[in-house]
Amino acid sequence: MTDLLTFTVEPTTASRLTSFDPSRVEFGKVFADHMLAVEYRDGDWQGPRIVPYGPLALSPATSALHYGQAIFEGMKAYRQADGGVALFRPLDNWRRLNASAARMAMPEVPEEIFMQGLRELIRLDEAWVPGAAGSALYVRPFMFGTDGLLGVRPSDGYHFGVITCPVGVYYTQPLRVRFEQHYVRAVAGGAGYAKNAGNYGAAMLPTRLAQQQGYHQLLWTDASEHQFIEESGTMNVLFILDDRLVTPALSTSILDGITRRSVLALARDWGLSVEERPVSGLEIIEALTAGRLHEAFGVGTAATIAPIAVIGHEGHDYELPAVPADAFSRRAGAALDAIRNGQALDPHGWMHRVTE
Ligand SMILES: *Cc1c(COP(=O)(O)O)cnc(C)c1O
Repeated sequence: MTDLLTFTVEPTTASRLTSFDPSRVEFGKVFADHMLAVEYRDGDWQGPRIVPYGPLALSPATSALHYGQAIFEGMKAYRQADGGVALFRPLDNWRRLNASAARMAMPEVPEEIFMQGLRELIRLDEAWVPGAAGSALYVRPFMFGTDGLLGVRPSDGYHFGVITCPVGVYYTQPLRVRFEQHYVRAVAGGAGYAKNAGNYGAAMLPTRLAQQQGYHQLLWTDASEHQFIEESGTMNVLFILDDRLVTPALSTSILDGITRRSVLALARDWGLSVEERPVSGLEIIEALTAGRLHEAFGVGTAATIAPIAVIGHEGHDYELPAVPADAFSRRAGAALDAIRNGQALDPHGWMHRVTE
């Protein structure tokens, strides 16, 4: 794609790169030197800027802080086998950002601002893209309403930003999850399919309660009957049931994960039968006790694939079988890693080159 926009670039005079130790980085704590910042004003996006990473100046009345017009995305850029850098499925993130924006009555971000902004920002901070196995540059686009007045209505002004942080292997121990049958993450007709900040705020208390009981995450269920599985924590959830890959069908209360989509595509490539349909808690517990549930795992950008070891249901903890080396979830994780690092063919055209 040709670069059409002019970005104002203000390079940092105090790079923090030399004081950064990639071997001891916690997820989301250390940010690269620069950030993208674009303001929406008078009905249009203004000139995009790349500036040193740093605080934003906000009115205490900033509408997003009060009424929650705030959305985000999450994606990764990977160091390639040949030394370059490539993003994984960034156009999917762009489309989903705009789907979230539409749901929250926020303006869409044009493709050029999003894509060219990512390219320019990552090129400038290329030295921050780690190269060790399993590492990546995590990319966090976000947008929020900026009006400094307290009327409850969609903001007129918005800030679209992108910050990035180098991340190592996101190691997750096998997860202990429990069905949540009191609180809900999202309701049909709500905004659960949008990556909007309020969804995460409302999930924190129920998640903390589960963590106090020794679980890592919740298995969210549908809001009307608490019977059907939706997601696990902030990941989509997949099961190997008999010889099929089974996952809850998308709905207005489920986030359409790009990792989920990619894992389903690999499964179909490999000839596995894939079922996207309602999945009840009872079905999963029955299959588990009958020895027909072989794998359960969460999928998302941060961890890629997080195997589930224990499922709590109505006061009882059910253990899943150990995950063998040739398990589907392991093969899918390895196949995705190989595509992302440029070590395998990319038949679906998922990788988007940022630097040569
Ligand atoms: C971001 C997210 C996911 C995973 O989406 P990916 O595109 O795979 O990272 C799943 N569920 C929720 C609630 C999320 O916020």
